[in-house]
Amino acid sequence: MSTSSHILNPRPLPAVAAPRFLEGADLGEYAKYLTDESRQSGQAAALAFPGSTAEVCATVLAARARGWSITVSNARTGIAAGAVPTGGLLLSLERLHGIRALRLGPATSILVHCEAGVSLAEVQKGVRTGVFADSGTWDPDSAAALATLRQGRYVYPPDPTETSAAIGGTIACNASGAHSFRYGPTRPYVDALTVVLMDGRVLDLQRGQAQAAPDGRFGIRQADGQVSWGRIPSYVWPRTKNAGGYYAEPGMDLLDLLIGSEGTLGIITEAVVRAIPAPEASCAVMTFWPTESAALRFTRAVREQRQELGLEAVEYFGPDALRLLRQRRAQLGAVSGVPECLPATADCAIYLDIGTDSARLAPVLEQLIAVVSAQGGDPESCWSAMADDERERLRIFRHALPETVNARIAEIRRRHPTVTKLGTDMAVPDDGLEQVLAMYRSHLDQAGLPYVVFGHIGDNHLHVNILPEDPQQYALGKRIYRQFAEAVVAMGGSPAAEHGIGKLKTAFLEILYGAAGVRQMRAVKAVFDPDSRLGAGTLFDGGQP
Ligand SMILES: Cc1cc2nc3c(=O)[nH]c(=O)nc-3n(C[C@H](O)[C@H](O)[C@H](O)COP(=O)(O)OP(=O)(O)OC[C@H]3O[C@@H](n4cnc5c(N)ncnc54)[C@H](O)[C@@H]3O)c2cc1C
Repeated sequence: MSTSSHILNPRPLPAVAAPRFLEGADLGEYAKYLTDESRQSGQAAALAFPGSTAEVCATVLAARARGWSITVSNARTGIAAGAVPTGGLLLSLERLHGIRALRLGPATSILVHCEAGVSLAEVQKGVRTGVFADSGTWDPDSAAALATLRQGRYVYPPDPTETSAAIGGTIACNASGAHSFRYGPTRPYVDALTVVLMDGRVLDLQRGQAQAAPDGRFGIRQADGQVSWGRIPSYVWPRTKNAGGYYAEPGMDLLDLLIGSEGTLGIITEAVVRAIPAPEASCAVMTFWPTESAALRFTRAVREQRQELGLEAVEYFGPDALRLLRQRRAQLGAVSGVPECLPATADCAIYLDIGTDSARLAPVLEQLIAVVSAQGGDPESCWSAMADDERERLRIFRHALPETVNARIAEIRRRHPTVTKLGTDMAVPDDGLEQVLAMYRSHLDQAGLPYVVFGHIGDNHLHVNILPEDPQQYALGKRIYRQFAEAVVAMGGSPAAEHGIGKLKTAFLEILYGAAGVRQMRAVKAVFDPDSRLGAGTLFDGGQP
């Protein structure tokens, strides 16, 4: 692919016709494409649905000829408004929905070659069940890899809660989820990308084939043979989960620059992602705690034994969260998804996913019971789920919380349409967990703001959902949100741990990397997208939730 491993060599594809642009009155019935799960709404001069990498190239060139900017839209589940257009062309990847091939990968992994618009759910399910809608069209090597997949137990580890997200969207946002506690975010599961650049050429990026120089330099060869040089930013990447800004590390793989770039450097049209052998046995356990401090001690204790216990996820439900769930049960009864047997004395809860060898499962559960007892919990009150239907009931219980929060905010918005939920997405290093939680509570209690705390406590990544009752509380909540971001960064953490920066949190980039860091990011973007046509308003324009 490259003559020097620091220089990327994009290639032109044979020209094809661009798909029809939907413009003017034709756009009317496509209003849903102007918004995403952030509930922000944008505008576009035209919308296009290219059906192949070659058509994406043609679309880029046609948009360029009209002087239009381009916003990439995928499944639109983003909650930071990255896919919401600010004018120009909205390029939807919805028609890129094929899974093209399987291959045997290194260390008994299986590589899945998919187009960017394939849903995460389809990839996860295909890997889990060995059933793929497109397998009838695959080559013999794919058939052999499929046979291997079907003989074993495999998992595609990235697990953001919203599985209708597209695989290209999860890569563009470096999405993570509850199981990132054990497996990390999307990044390490991406082996190769096909990326369309803003000059209509295509980059084939394969992990291990192109790295930045030790001093951070990298280049892109232009169509005339000249090389445009850039430099990886020199800022220090947070020591926590982080989905804010361009990934930066000395000598890094250049593939990693595209992962998490939120549709601002290039358009990912295809990806090769890696499924790995799944644990033989798994179990979900909900533990209940009389106080938050007991739950925090338990978190530390299980974290210290994460390997022996085969922990995949450690998730928190704070006292405010359990209160909301109890209210939901009282209002809706059994359809609430909240069981009647929620222990009356429980103040908060910690949910665990365990994945281990079949022979180890029983001893692991005994060890877990011992940890619960040692931390003052009651093993009798714990719920465990192994069978699919039991796990599904636990999943419904867990999801009842965000649903209740969203219903509450919808109710408030009927009275005050300008008010939205203020949902934080911040992670801190291990030693900051108690400190950050105390900070959240003292600021919000003092301000008298309603809020709920839950989320990925294993990674010190708690979501604080502030639920302002009126515009005054909303304004106050926004100020406090920013103070949280500053404090979390001062602790070495990230104010954008998994949902990205998008258009709503761009002010956080300067808090995270300083003005110089943001300038370095802009310089990287200028190498990929010199006319700044891609993803206008995303990452760089100074917005704050
Ligand atoms: C209920 C709910 C729960 C969620 N839970 C999680 C969670 O647990 N963890 C998590 O990380 N996120 C979560 N999210 C956020 C969201 O699902 C993720 O950010 C997801 O990765 C977005 O994928 P998408 O296909 O919907 O992308 P979109 O929303 O369409 O786009 C997101 C951004 O990526 C860019 N983009 C998309 N595809 C490409 C591409 N192929 N090439 C270049 N740029 C591209 C877009 O321009 C935009 O900037 C949740 C969202 C919801 C609504």
